[in-house]
Amino acid sequence: MDLLSIVVPCFNEEESIESFYGEVQTELENVNFEVIFINDGSEDNTLEIIKGLAQKHGNVKYISFSRNFGKESSIYAGLVNAKGDLVCVMDADLQHPPSLLPEMIEAITKENYDAAGARRVSRKGEPKIKSFFSKKYYSLFNRISKIEIVNGGTDYRMMTRPVVDSILQLTEYNRFSKGLFQWVGFETKWIDYENVERAAGETTWSFLGLIRYSTEGIVAFSTMPLTVSIVLGTIISIIAFIYMIFIILKYLLYSDPVQGFATIMCAILLLGGIQLLSIGTLGKYLEKTYFETKNRPIYIVKESNIDGD
Ligand code: UDP
Ligand code: MG
Repeated sequence: MDLLSIVVPCFNEEESIESFYGEVQTELENVNFEVIFINDGSEDNTLEIIKGLAQKHGNVKYISFSRNFGKESSIYAGLVNAKGDLVCVMDADLQHPPSLLPEMIEAITKENYDAAGARRVSRKGEPKIKSFFSKKYYSLFNRISKIEIVNGGTDYRMMTRPVVDSILQLTEYNRFSKGLFQWVGFETKWIDYENVERAAGETTWSFLGLIRYSTEGIVAFSTMPLTVSIVLGTIISIIAFIYMIFIILKYLLYSDPVQGFATIMCAILLLGGIQLLSIGTLGKYLEKTYFETKNRPIYIVKESNIDGD
C-alpha cells in the first residue's frame, strides 16, 4: 500500500477534529496517510480548525461545501477526491474508533479482503426502543431488497481502489451509502466493536430524521412497496367480486337492497385509506425519479486545498 486516504464528513464538529486527527496519527505511525475533511456547511468553527490543522500537517486536506448537503454527499465528495489506493470513511466524532484502523489495513493487505467494515455489536447507551426498531428495519430491508445490509454495520469502512471506483460509478442523487457499499459487491471483512458514545457535540439525528432515512433506503433499493399495492388490489377485487354476487343473489331472492350502512361505510373508509396509501407510495418513487432527472450536482464546493477542485 502506498497511500491511505481517510475521508471524514464533518458537520459542527469543532470540538472533535483535533483529537480525531491526534488519535488517527497515533494509530497510523508507520503508514503514509492523508485525511480529507469535508466541511458540510458547519455553523461553528469547524472550518477554521481544519484549516489550522492543514497548516501544521501537510497530509490534511479539506473540502468545504457551500451549505449543508448531508453526510452522504460528504462521503461522495471525499471518495471523489481521495488519491489513496486504500480509502477509509469514518466519522469525526470518534464514535468510529481509530484503533480499528491497523486491523482493517491488515484484513485488506494480508488477508486479501477488498473491504473491511466496522460492525457495532452492542448498542450501549442507546434507547432500547431504537435498537428494537433498527433490528426490525434491517430484517425488513433484507427481505424486500436484493442486497443484504448487515445489522450494526456502520459507514466506517476501508476499501481498495477498485471498490472505491465502483462506488464512484454510482452517481445517483439519492445516496444511501449503506446500500451502495453492499450493492457494488466485493468481499468485506466485518470487524466487531463496542458502541462508543460521542466524544463531544451532538448527533444530528432526530427520530423523524431516522424514519425519513430508513424510508429513503427502502425506496432506493426495493420496489416491493409498489408490489404490495398490486397484491392488495388483487385480493380486495376478488373479495369484492364474490361479495357482489352475494348481494345480487340476495336482491333477486329477497329484493331488499337498502340495508348495510355499516358495510358501505367500512368499505369506503378502508378502500379510501388503502388508495391514499398506495398513491403516497407511488408518489415517493416519483419524487425520487423527479430528483434524479433534475441531475443536480451531489455537492457544491466553496473552497478546498486539493488541486483541481
Ligand atoms: N455529518 C455530516 N453532515 C450532516 C450530518 C452529519 O457530515 O449533515 C457527519 C458528522 O459530522 C459525523 C458523521 O456525519 O462525522 C455522523 O454524524 P452523527 O455523529 O451526527 O451521526 P451518528 O453517529 O449519531 O449516526
Ligand atoms: Mg456520531
